[in-house]
Amino acid sequence: MYLTRFGSIIYLVHRRDALRASKIMAERAFAHTKIKPIWDSVVTEVLDIKQDKVTGVRLRNLKTKAESVVDCAGVFVAVGLIPNTHLFKGVINMDESGYIIPREGAATNVPGVFVAGDCTDRVYRQAVTAAGLGCAAAIEAERYLAARNE
Ligand SMILES: Cc1cc2nc3c(=O)[nH]c(=O)nc-3n(C[C@H](O)[C@H](O)[C@H](O)COP(=O)(O)OP(=O)(O)OC[C@H]3O[C@@H](n4cnc5c(N)ncnc54)[C@H](O)[C@@H]3O)c2cc1C
Repeated sequence: MYLTRFGSIIYLVHRRDALRASKIMAERAFAHTKIKPIWDSVVTEVLDIKQDKVTGVRLRNLKTKAESVVDCAGVFVAVGLIPNTHLFKGVINMDESGYIIPREGAATNVPGVFVAGDCTDRVYRQAVTAAGLGCAAAIEAERYLAARNE
């Protein structure tokens, strides 16, 4: 929706035939005259790196295997959600997807390390929930330090 302010057409390339986005956001996007969905497709190449600028993308339709080229002046990638927690793998407890598992409140299995935000929240992942968890982690960190007289 934001990109429609700058482009004449926004192609939304998606590998399936429907979005997982909230219904209201999907409806809003598809009601927009500038947004054209391209279903069942993936980008296989950004053109044209040799020219040092974007002139288009090569697409492959996953159902028909057909290849096509769509002219465009920019590419914006938004694929999936992977918590950036691999740095702590083997030290801080996390689930198989990399979401940190708090032990109690915002505490982790490592004393003095607290967790907040999307990296521990595989359900809501919203600004307001992240901010709330941040507040909880800050309070717990303060209590932890106070208990140690630091
Ligand atoms: C397209 C989009 C639309 C959204 N729309 C909404 C909305 O309308 N309403 C809403 O409530 N929420 C929305 N969200 C979700 C919201 O942005 C997140 O829930 C929120 O930003 C999570 O906050 P966070 O602090 O946990 O993580 P982030 O905001 O992701 O902050 C993590 C920070 O850590 C930094 N970082 C990562 N790795 C390292 C490292 N190794 N070293 C140092 N720094 C590092 C990152 O650069 C980043 O600054 C949207 C998200 C997206 C992607």
